[in-house]
Amino acid sequence: MASLFTRIINREIPADIVYEDEHCVAFRDINPQAPVHIVIVTRSEITGMADLPDSGDHQFLLNAAKKVAEMQGLSGGFRVVINQGVDGGQTVDHLHAHLLGGRQLDWPPG
Ligand code: AMP
Repeated sequence: MASLFTRIINREIPADIVYEDEHCVAFRDINPQAPVHIVIVTRSEITGMADLPDSGDHQFLLNAAKKVAEMQGLSGGFRVVINQGVDGGQTVDHLHAHLLGGRQLDWPPG
């Protein structure tokens, strides 16, 4: 069965898509943790960091995050996070990066 994020990519589930290219799709997180919180997903269904292939869409994830950060006007800075597995707080098993910005972010994260 297609992942939640594949269904968003295929427009089967509505989302506020802000960017897409041949490798990645970006949309606003439904439960934002910062004024700007965008999820950037690979078009291919890679389960997560632990299952990263040698090459593929994930190689373009950071470039997509940089572009979206620029588009969102995050010139003051931002954070890109990938959660992996239970301890990492991953809830959707489809590789994605969180782009967070628009406020001063705490470190370390909880
Ligand atoms: P993670 O916990 O790292 O796997 O991140 C999954 C993220 O997807 C969470 O921040 C959720 O709020 C977000 N999310 C879940 N369902 C949706 C949805 N339908 N549209 C947008 N974001 C979603």
